[in-house]
Amino acid sequence: HVTEQRHGHYIGGEWTDGPSAGGRPASGRTESAESDSFESENPATGETLATFERGTAADVDAALEAATDAFEEWRALSYIDRAEYLWEIYHELRDRHEELGEIVSKECGKEISEGKADVTEAWHMVEWAAGNARHPHGDVVPSEVAGKDSSMRRKPRGVVGCITPWNFPVAIPFWHMAIALVEGNTVVWKPAEQTPWCGQIIAEMFEDAGIPEGVFNMVQGFGDAGAAITDDDRVDTVLFTGSAEVGHEIAGKVGGEPGKLAACEMGGKNGIVVTGEADLDIAVHSAVMSSFKTTGQRCVSSERLIVHEDVYDEFKARFVDIAEGIAVGDPLEEDTFMGPVIEADHVEKIRGYNDLAREEGATVLVDRFDLADEEVPDGYADGHWVGPFVYEIDYESDLRCLNEECFGPHVALIEYSGDIENAVEIHNDTPYGLAGAIISEDYRQINYFRDHADLGLAYANLPCIGAEVQLPFGGVKKSGNGYPSAREAIEAVTERTAWTMNNSTDIE
Ligand code: NAD
Repeated sequence: HVTEQRHGHYIGGEWTDGPSAGGRPASGRTESAESDSFESENPATGETLATFERGTAADVDAALEAATDAFEEWRALSYIDRAEYLWEIYHELRDRHEELGEIVSKECGKEISEGKADVTEAWHMVEWAAGNARHPHGDVVPSEVAGKDSSMRRKPRGVVGCITPWNFPVAIPFWHMAIALVEGNTVVWKPAEQTPWCGQIIAEMFEDAGIPEGVFNMVQGFGDAGAAITDDDRVDTVLFTGSAEVGHEIAGKVGGEPGKLAACEMGGKNGIVVTGEADLDIAVHSAVMSSFKTTGQRCVSSERLIVHEDVYDEFKARFVDIAEGIAVGDPLEEDTFMGPVIEADHVEKIRGYNDLAREEGATVLVDRFDLADEEVPDGYADGHWVGPFVYEIDYESDLRCLNEECFGPHVALIEYSGDIENAVEIHNDTPYGLAGAIISEDYRQINYFRDHADLGLAYANLPCIGAEVQLPFGGVKKSGNGYPSAREAIEAVTERTAWTMNNSTDIE
């Protein structure tokens, strides 16, 4: 349906322009308070893909009303009946895999196989959540008193507000929504402003699956629409994935309200530790994949490589050699390794972090930030292209370049000496704790890392970029509070009731 018209929100089972309809189209993805539409852009070409309504507080209000009205009937269905709608969507995701994977690639600039993998991960999550409907929910608990039955039962919380980032525009929404819906909640979702086309297609899938009106609602727009969701009293749980800046604001606001809950997953300043006897083939491969895949724009991307002095020089030479040669390319070509970054502002943010590293004393090893014209694919000059930036730096605790997430192909090499304890001390010395890896042939050092690295996601001898939906996904410290996604999200979208029933006639 995209490109021929201005696309609306999906509220109460209908496509709508919302109460804000009728304004002039915006000229780009600007945040002008006067504009009530915005455009989706292809970051590889700079071309406009489609135009969308920009959600206002009034649109969010209508969506929350629809979700509130739909809740009692939806929760009254059995788990299995609710899951049936998700199975319909599972088939839609499989049937529209190619089409949606290509849209992800066009809207995010991700290489096409990554675009398709985003869709695959979404159906894995839907499969898990719908399949889980047939699994036990709650626990039977022994009572201290004979004749009393005790159990822990789960109930849906009500209306769940889902706010998602642009970088996994299909998988992450389903991480949040599939579980929330199967557990009996209704949903108001705001897709990222960079990926409204993916939002449009997902809403079409819910419509085609025949989900009862008001159970799933989607409002397009920016952070102000997101804030209208998180701040509303009708929302019982907020599930958020995105930047630390926004996540902390939401957690702070919502956390102060009794009866309301926020589970937020944020960014990282992820590291890979390479020990003195590591297999350097594995180490270099893992570092290259973790630092440059998705052009460094994964929450689990690695920006710090902490390498033992015994292998530092060889590791550096091999890593730098690959970083010098990595080509950017058309995201729709399968042999492309790095696509563009998401938007013009993000190019400037990455430039700022590269400059900051220099100011803080970095020795620059690779600076391909400003790519030469001939390095950019033909016909793509208006895209948002950057190349790898690699530096080495003497470790100091309070360097901003080693503590703040850049979210680009910007990576520091840090040399350490001594035992694994020293490496883990450096590894843990950031405010974040999302994903990290150890590359080592020594089981003692691997186990030490597993037990002492401050991480939600820890890997050994592989890149720290994979995720499987049946494992928890989230971080510690500044990277997360609560788990808005995958298996653990059940905790955020259900209430627990401690149920005790007396089966005896003994009133004592
Ligand atoms: P972002 O925080 O800028 O935006 C995320 C969402 O929040 C968007 O939908 C946005 O419109 C909305 N938003 C913005 N301001 C808001 C406000 N005040 N109230 C409510 N909603 C608001 O993040 P992004 O740029 O889309 O994504 C990149 C970030 O996401 C990176 O930091 C990355 O590490 C992180 N991320 C984390 C995970 C994870 O699972 N931990 C996964 C993917 C991305």
